[in-house]
Formats: sequence, structure tokens, C-alpha cells
Amino acid sequence: MKVIADVKCYHCGFISGQLVGEQNGRIRPESFHPVDKYPRPLPRSGDILRCGRCGGPVYLEDVRIYHKRIVEPIPPARRGRPRGAKTLAKAS
Ligand SMILES: [Zn+2]
Repeated sequence: MKVIADVKCYHCGFISGQLVGEQNGRIRPESFHPVDKYPRPLPRSGDILRCGRCGGPVYLEDVRIYHKRIVEPIPPARRGRPRGAKTLAKAS
């Protein structure tokens, strides 16, 4: 079972990103998903994960089951009047 957790700073409370991995698996550098515009170089194997804002120590918060979102394509917009517009126009 995959889990996801927020990587939060002890000092400033900034959430640097999320860790995604197996429940009892090892944490790897590719497990870290930084927030947009993460200001530091991404951690490499053996590096200590630090806060993206202040460089402080981090902890995992809000550990939860990871549900991968399935993105469905949005159908193209239809041209012309929407159906039912005539009915509404007659009623008024
Ligand atoms: Zn911080």
C-alpha cells in the first residue's frame, strides 16, 4: 500500500513537498515530490532532506493512503446554443 506525507519544517512550518512510497519501504530521493518553485537543489541519495525555505530540519506530517488520481480528458466544448435554451425562452 502506498502512502503520502507532507514534508514540513520544524522551524518555520513550510511544507517543502510530499514523500510518496510504500508503507514500510525505504525513502529514496525520487520519493520526494517538491512544491512548485522549490528553491533548493533536489536531494540526492544520501542527502538529508531539509526545509526548502530556511534549511531547517523537517518531519513528516499528515501521513495518508496515496490514491493516484485518474485524469479524464475533458470533452471539447460544443458550439451553438445549449440545448434547452428555446424552452427557457418560451417560458419567459
Ligand atoms: Zn523552514
